Amino acid sequence: MSDPLYTVATGKFYFQIRFEDVPQQYILGGRCFCCNHRGPVDRKRIEKRWGAAAQMRWVDRYLHCLVCDNKIENMFTVVGTYLPAPEVAEVVALRKAG
Ligand SMILES: [Zn+2]
Repeated sequence: MSDPLYTVATGKFYFQIRFEDVPQQYILGGRCFCCNHRGPVDRKRIEKRWGAAAQMRWVDRYLHCLVCDNKIENMFTVVGTYLPAPEVAEVVALRKAG
C-alpha cells in the first residue's frame, strides 16, 4: 500500500479510485505487475474514452508495459507532479535573461 496513488487518493482502496480522484497536478501513470516498470499514460485520451468518473480497476486491463510487454494485472499509479505554473514562468524568465 505504499504506492503514491494512495497518498493522492487518500483513504481509498484501489478498487474505489476514479480518475477524477487524482488532481490534475499529478501525472497519471501505470505500473507493471511483472517488471514493476512505471511510466506516464495519456490521461486525456483515457478520460475522453472512459470518462473521468470511471474507476481505474475497469480500465487498467488495457495497460500494456512498454518494457516487458506484459498486459495482465497492471495498475494505474502516480508517477510525478507537474510543475506549478509560477515556477514554470520563473524558469522561462531566467532562460530569457541568460
Ligand atoms: Zn513490465
